[in-house]
Amino acid sequence: MPIRSLPLVTFENVHSTTFECTYGRGCPGLCCTNGRPPVEPEEAARIEKVLPRVLPELRPEALRIVAREGFASRRRNMGRPMLRVANGWCIFFNRGCVLQRLGSEEGDPDRYKPSTCALFPLERIKDGTWYLRQWGHRGEEWLLPCLNPQASTRPAAEGLAAEIALAERLTANNEPDA
Ligand code: SF4
Repeated sequence: MPIRSLPLVTFENVHSTTFECTYGRGCPGLCCTNGRPPVEPEEAARIEKVLPRVLPELRPEALRIVAREGFASRRRNMGRPMLRVANGWCIFFNRGCVLQRLGSEEGDPDRYKPSTCALFPLERIKDGTWYLRQWGHRGEEWLLPCLNPQASTRPAAEGLAAEIALAERLTANNEPDA
């Protein structure tokens, strides 16, 4: 399995594969269906702070759930609470990610998104190596079309430049990914 090391981080299969997100060009945002990403305490605090701007942007069914029960559930993933789902879609999904839209308006699409979402489809292995989730790799079970290695001819290093930069930053700062 080809491995390429950069000064701060090792990417297992990223530089030997292809990937391209086709959101808005064929994909309706399938990775936001039933994903339930875990949220770090500081990520939850950032979302809480921006909630007054988020709420008017939510789907009615999501708004009802947030008002009644909050945006994070009692279910845990790696000890962290997970975002809720409304009608099969992430609580913050409404024609795209509401958190991403608000962050983009301020010049940083990842400002309010859980790092799991901002990094997708990169995943960190415990030893500090990152890999690209793809069908047939490390037992990947999520059959998202974009995780099919044949789905795109675009080098993953190019299609995932922003995610790779974030992974490098998290590793350099020794920050946990969600
Ligand atoms: S990452 Fe994949 S599933 Fe998510 S929006 Fe892009 S193409 Fe769709």
